[in-house]
Amino acid sequence: MAASGGRASSAPLVGRDNEPTIFELSRPGRASWQLPTTKVPETPLEALVAPEHRRAAPVDVAEVSERDLVGHFTRLSHRQYSVDLGAYPLGSCTMKYNPKVCDAVAALPGLASVHPAAPAALAQGWLATLVALEAALCELAGMAAATLQPAAGAAGELTGLLLMRAHDEARGERRRRVIIPDSAHGTNPASVTLGGYETTTVRSDERGLVDLEALRAVLDTDVAGMMLTNPNTLGLFEEDIAEIARCVHEVGGLMYYDGANLNAILGVVRPGDMGFDIVHLNLHKTFATPHGGGGPGAGPVAVAEHLVEFLPGPRPVRLDSEDGEARYGWHTPERSIGRVHGWHGNALVLARALAYIEVHGADGLHKVAERAVLNANWIRERLSSTFDVAFDRPCMHEVVFSAAALHKRTGASAHDVAKGLIEEGFHPPTVAFPLIVEDALMVEPTETESYETLVALAEALERVAARAQEGTLEGSPRTTPVRRVDEARAARTLVATFDARR
Ligand SMILES: *Cc1c(COP(=O)(O)O)cnc(C)c1O
Repeated sequence: MAASGGRASSAPLVGRDNEPTIFELSRPGRASWQLPTTKVPETPLEALVAPEHRRAAPVDVAEVSERDLVGHFTRLSHRQYSVDLGAYPLGSCTMKYNPKVCDAVAALPGLASVHPAAPAALAQGWLATLVALEAALCELAGMAAATLQPAAGAAGELTGLLLMRAHDEARGERRRRVIIPDSAHGTNPASVTLGGYETTTVRSDERGLVDLEALRAVLDTDVAGMMLTNPNTLGLFEEDIAEIARCVHEVGGLMYYDGANLNAILGVVRPGDMGFDIVHLNLHKTFATPHGGGGPGAGPVAVAEHLVEFLPGPRPVRLDSEDGEARYGWHTPERSIGRVHGWHGNALVLARALAYIEVHGADGLHKVAERAVLNANWIRERLSSTFDVAFDRPCMHEVVFSAAALHKRTGASAHDVAKGLIEEGFHPPTVAFPLIVEDALMVEPTETESYETLVALAEALERVAARAQEGTLEGSPRTTPVRRVDEARAARTLVATFDARR
């Protein structure tokens, strides 16, 4: 059926650095499992599938023994770098260690085995979980209510922009513009466009913060709102946030908070108190769900009182009951923008987030923020003589260095530094973002790493900078199965299937 001969016979079958594809390992007739013969009479295919939908030939699947199957995927898994393996200082994406207790909670049969279509009467525990999470997130964000449906930060942004539109339309207006700063995450302008608005960009000033004069110059009654991340993507707190919010509200616009990375402010300051009306939170960055590699996420959107009536539905709610016992059900707000996700979002991600919040408590969440900020500032201070700090002032949960001077001096770019760090056993920081910093190296050590790990990371980056000086970074990484991948070519000429007959 599947691959045999050809490339398969010439490829070595084992070896970490030359792992064949599962199809090259395939040999006709091999199998990992045998199913017992069934006593249930087989329904003829003809009775089940219309002729035009039947395959002409069997599916081309790999045939491998269980031993080869497990070996193949285990070898591949050892090529991965993960949050469980070591520090992952990828700025803006908050790749931090996730406590295992959250996985244990998400695996409880009472949560994991409930069918999403189960009637409310049979899913009271789940509904109570969702209601409790919504309350906790609203408390942390300083908001009135939230939808838990959006499956990612970007999906939350789009939901937020649709809420902005609903708010516009309800007051009989059709505003066209949304303002975002030039330091914004790339998803912000993309969401603005998807939401049917045009982006107006405001520049950052020499502090790395929104330029108030530039903002005032673009504000008028055509502005539906402003999207802002605070701390911004330079890791800096927007000190003028109260004045920014006042100016946007003055022209009738809404303030949207991109809360993808909340670890710097958890339990310390709330977006609602800063003047925001809409907030999305990335549970997979701040509240313990392993992400990266396209893993499941959740981007709940919380809103202030005046936007609750537009929230997506159905929403989990606590019902009034006469006997005082807690009962839960579903409710769709009158002017709801409708569903933004099938069922109720990525439910087990939601369960993990509630576990994370409950295990930490208010006190623990506050400490998360303190530790995140302390660790980033320690890294900033320690490495400030090795790389230039883009905006030299105390940072929040992440710090942006510039390798521009190093680049001029040695020819080694931020990209080369990142490749060199892989050899040192660390995941690289974010490079080339934010766009307004030349040769950006964006480091987020996160709150979960110990002092010893921070020292090891700093020493590794110092060694890499020394190698740049020597001019030996070009060949890095020398320790990985592949070295410098041509990412652009890989993305443009993507080969997503394996054809054994080629
Ligand atoms: C990660 C991130 C997003 C997008 O979140 P996704 O879950 O990847 O869609 C938006 N804004 C900021 C600042 C982010 O860091």
